[in-house]
Amino acid sequence: MSTLTADLDIDAIRAEFPVLDQEVGGHPLAYLDSAASSQKPTAVIDAISNYYRHNHANVHRGVHHLSQTATVAFENARKALASFLNAPTDRDIVFTRGTTEAINLVANTWGQANIGSGDEIIVSHMEHHSNIVPWQMLCQRTGAILKVIPVLDDGTLDMDAYAALLNDRTKLVGVVHVSNSLGTVNPVADIIRLAHDVGAVVLLDGAQATPHTRVDVTALDVDFYALSAHKMYGPTGIGALYGRSSLLESMPPWEGGGDMIKNVSFDGTTYAPPPAKFEAGTPNIAGTVGLHAAIDWMNRVGVDAIAAHEHRLLTYGTELLSEIPALRILGTAPNKAGVITFTFGDAHPHDVGTLLNEMGIAIRTGHHCTEPLWARFGVPATARASFAAYSTLDEVDRLAAGLRKAGRMLGA
Ligand SMILES: *Cc1c(COP(=O)(O)O)cnc(C)c1O
Repeated sequence: MSTLTADLDIDAIRAEFPVLDQEVGGHPLAYLDSAASSQKPTAVIDAISNYYRHNHANVHRGVHHLSQTATVAFENARKALASFLNAPTDRDIVFTRGTTEAINLVANTWGQANIGSGDEIIVSHMEHHSNIVPWQMLCQRTGAILKVIPVLDDGTLDMDAYAALLNDRTKLVGVVHVSNSLGTVNPVADIIRLAHDVGAVVLLDGAQATPHTRVDVTALDVDFYALSAHKMYGPTGIGALYGRSSLLESMPPWEGGGDMIKNVSFDGTTYAPPPAKFEAGTPNIAGTVGLHAAIDWMNRVGVDAIAAHEHRLLTYGTELLSEIPALRILGTAPNKAGVITFTFGDAHPHDVGTLLNEMGIAIRTGHHCTEPLWARFGVPATARASFAAYSTLDEVDRLAAGLRKAGRMLGA
């Protein structure tokens, strides 16, 4: 992660997030759950509102003014995202509802067409359920076999074990770029290179990477990249799949309907070229407008500056929380994003979260959609604090003080 410290003006940034300006339980809200979903700046809220107030119509079908305006806004969002990811062309960007739908799209199209009985799919032990279950479902349908890269005690991937899993039956490797549960930034360039050496295709789950790091799909030479707007200051219900042009062209469609066709007749239907081939039905146009505004916002603040700020919070928070007796941090990888996951003595994470909520502090508790990972660490549930551009050192102080207080109340 970058150590660049173009200092952010955090007060000015916070002023752009109206939702942060409220009290919970008589305390100022400390929102430390951005890994589950980030808050939205006024630039994003206003872009969506402005779109509905002035520019809305259905896309791609109309000759009239508003339809053309909406189409331009929709396609400009695609261009902005292509440029944000350094994709070779905006034709490689397919809009989806989010990361989950992007992964399901690959499993149901590329996977269904290219993976058969006895073929192998590799995922890691730290995957989000959305990068496990679609592959399990595909394996059930096709007779393919799911293999799992082990996770070491510090929350890094066992890369020797990964290399040993790869062979000429490996068809796809699906790995999370940045772990939502451990914060680990995985060595994705190495993962991709090794997979390509055996002819396998690589999908990266980028849900936690795009908010916190610079992502360059061309430099990575990755085949598929999935993301969600709501994790990166944009709205819910919109995300994208980046796919290598040659793969997108070769893949069969998934959902059928309007917008994804070239011609329809009862003798046979022909499909539109990508990305339209994978975007059946009226898209979430307002969502793409919001995503575009979120990308502009991140570019204006600076992805490197955001990453540096979060890294400072991570270092400070790790130090403070490590001093609390009985608190155990899970995930201590050297290369880590702004996530601190922990258990606290015998206290149930749900009780810890409930007490913190009474102090106005929002953290996540539970399995964070990575149940296999916690089975591996022998803990049923954990608590997680996560940071974004608007998080402050003061909030980290409040978290540490709140945890000490909760610990006394719970006998942790
Ligand atoms: C949030 C998240 C997902 C799922 O994203 P949705 O927006 O719910 O589709 C997948 N993977 C990781 C690592 C995530 O953090």
